[in-house]
Order: sequence, then C-alpha cells, then structure tokens
Amino acid sequence: MRKIIIAGNWKMNKTTVEAIELANGLKRDLYDIDAIGIIVCPPFTAIDEVAEVVYQTNIGLGAQNMHWEDAGAFTGEVSAPMLKELGCGYVILGHSERRQYFHETNETVNKKLKSALKHGLTPIVCVGESLEEREAGRTFDVIRDHVTNSLKGLDKEEIKKVIIAYEPVWAIGTGKTATPDQAQEVHRFIRDLLEKAYTREIADEITIQYGGSVKPGNIKELISQKDIDGALVGGASLDVKSFAEIVKGAQ
Ligand code: 13P
Repeated sequence: MRKIIIAGNWKMNKTTVEAIELANGLKRDLYDIDAIGIIVCPPFTAIDEVAEVVYQTNIGLGAQNMHWEDAGAFTGEVSAPMLKELGCGYVILGHSERRQYFHETNETVNKKLKSALKHGLTPIVCVGESLEEREAGRTFDVIRDHVTNSLKGLDKEEIKKVIIAYEPVWAIGTGKTATPDQAQEVHRFIRDLLEKAYTREIADEITIQYGGSVKPGNIKELISQKDIDGALVGGASLDVKSFAEIVKGAQ
C-alpha cells in the first residue's frame, strides 16, 4: 500500500517570521496525523527556522530547488549537501515554474535528481503539460518526454525513492483543477510508463502526487482515484486552516 503524501510548496512566499508562524500552526493542528505523510517546502531563507519548528515531528521538510553540483562558482545557487545540513529530507525538482521561467530542462532536472539521490534527499519530480499542449492533443507525449528524460538512468533501487508530481500547468494557480478522471488518466499513464521501464511491482510502489488548485473541497475526490497518492499544494498550503483541512481530508 502506498502512503498518501501531502506536500505544501510555499513558492516565493513567507518571510522567516511568517514561515515560523505557519509551521507552528501546522504542528499544532496536525500533530496527531500519522497515516498521511506531511511535507512543507518553504523558501530557502526560511528552511533553517522551519527545520527547528518541525524537528522530530510528523512534518517533513523540503526545498523547492537545488543545483546539481555539491559546491562551486554558481552564484545564487544552493546544493544538496547544504539542504541536508539544514535538515531537509525532500526537494522539489523540475517544477513547471522553474521549467517555464528559469529554463529548466529534463536534462538539468535529471542531473539534480541524481545529486539529490546521491545525498539522500527524496526528490519530488514535477511533470505536466501546458494548456496549449493539452489542446493540441499532446498531453501524453509531453508526459512521456518528462517522465522518460527527467528520470533517465535510475536503477531499480533509485526509482523507488522518487516521488512524482503530476501538475498540469493549466491547473496551477488558476482555480481550474483537472477533474479526478482527467488526473487519474495521466497518473495511470505514468504508472504504465514506469512498469514498462521497470516492473509492475516497482511501478506500484511509486508515489504519484497530483498538483494544481488542490483545495479542501476537492482533495477527497482526487485522492479516491486509484493512482493518485497525494497532492502537491501551492496556494492552499500558505494558510494553516486550508492546508490542515487538505491533510485531514486525505485520510
Ligand atoms: P496551486 O495549488 O496554487 O495551483 O499550485 C500548485 C503547484 O504548483 C504546487 O507545486
């Protein structure tokens, strides 16, 4: 049985003071949840302080990006060892906003993924089509390309450590959620790709989250789909009440 995992991607939101407040609120409201995996991904500047709040709780900590090298002349970047040292267990890679605004490609996502695994961080690798691609009937081609090339070269043990997040770009921050059927169809497709590349058993072990306008009101229906194993939440993760309701709704 795959564990349901709900992760909050805070994006470029929350000063350190605000981040501490949010993390404390979640710790208070969610302390007794153990059936669901809970992760928060604050901006880099707040990771250290949030790490203190969630230390030895049921809330995991992640970053939103990293560089693939361990150290070096890469102004403005941070590396996997730096994130590990702060207490991160997870890192989001290849988010569509990074692909779109910062020119990330499957190739760079793949390098980051290998570095994350090497340093013991669990990567949450994002894949998803744009509205234009969906309307052109290219959804499955784009997903195949993202999954195949972003996850390239992982062996059987490595792939099992990866979380995949299907985030249709047209559903991010737009209030337009993919219908549970639309999401399930793509999640199934991703699991079938994993089965072809590895085995059925391995494909069945991998957590595939859905992301894109997830809210307290739609989490139950999404999670009831066979291949949807949790959510990567943006806007609704910035508020204690709504994120806590999403986590509780996923039980
Ligand atoms: P929203 O939940 O704000 O649509 O964002 C989804 C997302 O991009 C999470 O990574």
